[in-house]
Amino acid sequence: MVFLGELFVDLPLPIDAENTFEGCGKCVACITLCPTGAILEPYVVDARKCISYLTIEHQGSIPEQYRALLGNRVYGCDDCQLVCPWNRYGQITDEQDFHPRTQLKDKDLLELFAWDEATFLKNTEGSPIRRIGHERWLRNLAVGLGNAQFSPAIIYALENKSSECSELVLEHIQWALAQQNDKQRVKLRKTQRLIRIIEKGLPRDA
Ligand code: SF4
Ligand code: SF4
Repeated sequence: MVFLGELFVDLPLPIDAENTFEGCGKCVACITLCPTGAILEPYVVDARKCISYLTIEHQGSIPEQYRALLGNRVYGCDDCQLVCPWNRYGQITDEQDFHPRTQLKDKDLLELFAWDEATFLKNTEGSPIRRIGHERWLRNLAVGLGNAQFSPAIIYALENKSSECSELVLEHIQWALAQQNDKQRVKLRKTQRLIRIIEKGLPRDA
């Protein structure tokens, strides 16, 4: 198990020799795969573009240029960890606290979006997800729902929530509704085109 962290102290500690180990070789998988292009070059990450930062640490509005790129990643990302060949050697920990929690595993975004604050707090007890709070949870989920395929149930849930949420969440709900409505228009256009093609080419079966 590895934890990353920093200590700020004013003690004159001995300085380690420079770490010159270079484990990446010719691999650039994480740079190529990062959904938002946050890894600018080897060893350089622009945190402002990173989905983990945007969905967990960032407190305000998620910049519009990154919303579609979030996909359904509503809390963190770690695609760069999934693709890194070094992580093949990682072992699953025996520590139960790090295992998936049933109340959060394989859930539909709509189900998570329906949680009120009390349910959110209850279901995220002991999980780091809890620290982003219910408002940012809804903000992230609204973006995820906007990125989902067109669904009348999603539009209904977004509209329903918009009358009882904060300004921050509302802004993301409005964005999500615009995405869903765009997808509905595209779907309708495709259906109408298909009907026209069949009426023209196969009038007998139309
Ligand atoms: S966590 Fe995701 S968005 Fe952030 S650097 Fe890794 S792949 Fe990119
Ligand atoms: S995926 Fe892993 S090995 Fe490959 S460049 Fe990124 S950090 Fe290095």
